[in-house]
Amino acid sequence: MIPGCTPWPAETAERYRELGLWTGQTLDVLLRAHGERTALVSGGTRRTYRELAERAARLAAGFHGLGLRRGDRVIVQMPNTPELIDTLFALLALGAAPVLALPPHRRDEIGHLAAHTEAAAYVVPAVHQGFDHRALAREIRGPRHVIVAGEPEEFTPLSALYAEPAELPPPEPGDVAFFLLSGGTTGRAKLIPRTHDDYLCNIRLSARNARLGPDDVYLAALPIAHNYALGCPGVLGTLYAGGSVALCPTPSPEDAFPVIERERVTVTGLVPSLALLWADAASWTRHRLSSLRLVQLGGAGVSPELARDVRARLGPVQQSFGMAEGLLSQSPPDDPPELVTTVQGKPLSEYDEVRVVDETGAEVPAGEAGELLVRGPYTIRGYFRAEEHNSRAFTPDGFFRTGDLARRTETGHLVICGRIKDVINRGGDKVPADEVEEHLLAHPDVRAAAVVPVPDPYLGERTCAYIVARDEPPTLQTVAAFMRERGVAAYKIPDRVVVVPGLPLTPVGKVDKARLQEASP
Ligand code: AMP
Repeated sequence: MIPGCTPWPAETAERYRELGLWTGQTLDVLLRAHGERTALVSGGTRRTYRELAERAARLAAGFHGLGLRRGDRVIVQMPNTPELIDTLFALLALGAAPVLALPPHRRDEIGHLAAHTEAAAYVVPAVHQGFDHRALAREIRGPRHVIVAGEPEEFTPLSALYAEPAELPPPEPGDVAFFLLSGGTTGRAKLIPRTHDDYLCNIRLSARNARLGPDDVYLAALPIAHNYALGCPGVLGTLYAGGSVALCPTPSPEDAFPVIERERVTVTGLVPSLALLWADAASWTRHRLSSLRLVQLGGAGVSPELARDVRARLGPVQQSFGMAEGLLSQSPPDDPPELVTTVQGKPLSEYDEVRVVDETGAEVPAGEAGELLVRGPYTIRGYFRAEEHNSRAFTPDGFFRTGDLARRTETGHLVICGRIKDVINRGGDKVPADEVEEHLLAHPDVRAAAVVPVPDPYLGERTCAYIVARDEPPTLQTVAAFMRERGVAAYKIPDRVVVVPGLPLTPVGKVDKARLQEASP
């Protein structure tokens, strides 16, 4: 394992192996089993499993030729394209670990990832949605190589790296397969090391629960760099099951619906805001969507009304509550539709150890709400190079403190009722309040700042920044321009700015965010 990662205790790992939860395989196995079946469809591009495996082997050889080696970190910031799939599997074959950045990340986020992981390379598209990633790459210090899909300018073209396949030492099942980014934490994104063993367990359980098989076609509407579309069951779960993955240029109904019709898509995963948009569009579209047999809803709170609406207009629903750190709670296939609309499924493995605790850490009785803690075969034991944070984020006996409030029902289902972590869930995009506050405090006109969620009918939550000004009161426009200048992803820029004379404090002198939330416009 890469130094700076926390392994599972040896006896726990042994037990997971004995139980068959960890199979001792590595993720490259996904491309080996289904030969001439279609693995990937994107626009006019169709690739079989064999073709994908060949492309990955050739690209792995090219990466190796550049000097990338097992254990190296490689920041991959790619939209949902065939090049992303090639890059992922090539790095997996090489044993180098992709660090999966999201497409909207900018200088601030990528700079942090590059420094924190000491990344050896950075893989980007030339231009995506009008943004020139080569210009961003020029501002990032550290990676020895910038590899570009598309017109490379002075950088290395990805297309030139497909080389003669070489004999490379295979990765180990306990190796880190890739790093996902944590959405639900304090400060800068923490890195989540997922191993081949644990992620294969993740995708196998999720694919089985969704009854995925070779006839399924999964549409990756959300970014594949995110855990949800990557492996819950997502792209990798679909390949595990021998199905095909379809890509669309954007998740808008205009782009996604024709692909659903043409490829007879059976399964997809949506965040609530997107589901709302799709459900509306389904009532006027001329495209046939009747092939959809499972529409996953998750990433943010799903109201029973939305779940019912989606079921009526798009197809059968599955609730998906989960996190890049591990635990997945998804509706079992035999749950009656009315139950599916009201609870957030069940943990996927009987070996997911779930605790719901009060502020003292004591377990609360079933039916009562408390913080959800979890430990299990696909939940990490520590973030990468984050010793101090790990001592707070994990209990001494290895349970991950999710920061989510949940209650368990008599039937073993989970109901997510809120969160105690200071994160705004903006339509599935996670915005850590303290990270935004830190940026705001750097503004010369800001004396104090507090960022809170405000309810929003479309995104679920938006961010509202309460600011105590120095001289010139900042406006939404000046704050947005300032944060863009600092290279922060657009989704973290506050949606509202309210200038106040002072921030309310709790009796212990902390900013009283609950009061601010109540007072929010
Ligand atoms: P991420 O790691 O980005 O997937 O974010 C994980 C977090 O998203 C969880 O800890 C929850 O706070 C939130 N989340 C994910 N799914 C749901 C859901 N179905 N309902 C409510 N919150 C959710």
